[in-house]
Amino acid sequence: MAVRFVIVGGGPAGVEAAATASRLGADVTLVERDVIGGAANLWDCIPSKAMIATGGLMALTRRSAALGLNLTSEPPNLSALRARVEGITERLAASNTAQLESQGVRLVRGFGRLRGPHTVEIDPAGEEPSYTVEADAVLLSTGSTPRVPAWAPVDGDRVLITRDAYPPPSIPEQLVVVGSGVTGVEFVHLFRSLGSRVSLIVSRQQVLPQKDPEVAAALEADFLETGVTLVKGARAVRLDRTGDAVVVICEDDRKVVGSHVLLAIGSVPSSAGLGLEEAGVAVNDGGYVTINHHCQSNVPHIYAAGDLSGRLQLASVAAAQGRKVAEHVMGLHTRDHRHLDYDKAASAIFTEPEIADVGLAEAEAFALGRKIRVTKVPFALSAKAMIDGDPRGFVKLVSDPNTGIILGGSIVGAHAAELISVIGVAVSAHLRVDDLAETVLVHPALAEVLAAAAE
Ligand SMILES: Cc1cc2nc3c(=O)[nH]c(=O)nc-3n(C[C@H](O)[C@H](O)[C@H](O)COP(=O)(O)OP(=O)(O)OC[C@H]3O[C@@H](n4cnc5c(N)ncnc54)[C@H](O)[C@@H]3O)c2cc1C
Repeated sequence: MAVRFVIVGGGPAGVEAAATASRLGADVTLVERDVIGGAANLWDCIPSKAMIATGGLMALTRRSAALGLNLTSEPPNLSALRARVEGITERLAASNTAQLESQGVRLVRGFGRLRGPHTVEIDPAGEEPSYTVEADAVLLSTGSTPRVPAWAPVDGDRVLITRDAYPPPSIPEQLVVVGSGVTGVEFVHLFRSLGSRVSLIVSRQQVLPQKDPEVAAALEADFLETGVTLVKGARAVRLDRTGDAVVVICEDDRKVVGSHVLLAIGSVPSSAGLGLEEAGVAVNDGGYVTINHHCQSNVPHIYAAGDLSGRLQLASVAAAQGRKVAEHVMGLHTRDHRHLDYDKAASAIFTEPEIADVGLAEAEAFALGRKIRVTKVPFALSAKAMIDGDPRGFVKLVSDPNTGIILGGSIVGAHAAELISVIGVAVSAHLRVDDLAETVLVHPALAEVLAAAAE
């Protein structure tokens, strides 16, 4: 009999696990309460980047004079913008659904919860009664939702979370963004591009506290140049509304006033009502399911992947975990098998300039006391960057000084999210700086800066 594999949550982790397991011969049921594709498609990666594409075009319009044009743009048409974002997410959900159906995955609409180690209960909502299905293996991939602190009365009008911003009812005149991690800075970029004046509350002394300080400094410089106010070393603790103004009050009594506030202060696991306790599944202090390198929880046939597993919160990582789970469920890990290496996952921040990194960062190596060679080449030297009229940023390559093996890299600049793939492959495949330097690349192209950094 085929392995009965039940997946709860149809985001990137669940979809990839379902597609892989069904290809490998499992009997797969995927339970999703909302839309196949998950929050990644409906609320996070896709709508935010669709909006940023519009904002980016508006920013480009403002820079067009340097390229001999005099383009101007009207304020965005919010209903057209909303229709475009919805159109993209609907098309992606439809293609995910069609792909899984064509592979024979049983798609079930409803809320899934564990009713014991081998039993999943499905509540289809509405009039229909709940029912149970039995499973040999279960994947929990229910994702996460934005964290809303008790002091913030989110109303979707003036006090927003990211999910209210695709687009909001009106473009904020003066937006206060709380939180300067990846999501916060992307929304700063988005709204300043759309024409808002923006203040960013930064809890430490650097935006993007987890990133290379030089990378963060490049973004801060660009924010300041385009009029973004940075309120550093400030922890928001209260929010007052007076008429059309919203005032964010910080721990040290500093007040930041705006017409709107957007909260980007992390997420919480979507585990309420999931029956974790009933099935004996252990969670960590933050409520995320604890997993081993196969994504197994403490109950070996119950797996967790994606945001619920509390690892790197990226759609790409969620999908990679989903694939590994499916392979493990089907016994493939007993063959030649590579564990997922979270340290080698590439990631990008869709600001302007774009930021991307992979592998070992300079600051991290320094903290570890590890000897490295660092080379840095600015895009200002690139012919293509001059042609495109955007010489901002640099490529930084980290390699082993003895072997020349490429250990990591950071890119700040146009198309960083695409260019980082080259360094990503180099890091994964243990390529050396010479391999990159000796590759004959296209001219003129931004990628030439990668080869120059490898010299
Ligand atoms: C604003 C924003 C932008 C982002 N942009 C990017 C980006 O550009 N690139 C990137 O890689 N990552 C990005 N991320 C992170 C990315 O969205 C997440 O890491 C990713 O969505 C996690 O995927 P997942 O499979 O864990 O589940 P999710 O995408 O969160 O989906 C979980 C699914 O489970 C369903 N579900 C929950 N509970 C139940 C239940 N009990 N029964 C049935 N169904 C249930 C939900 O309806 C949902 O569809 C962004 C995050 C945010 C907040």
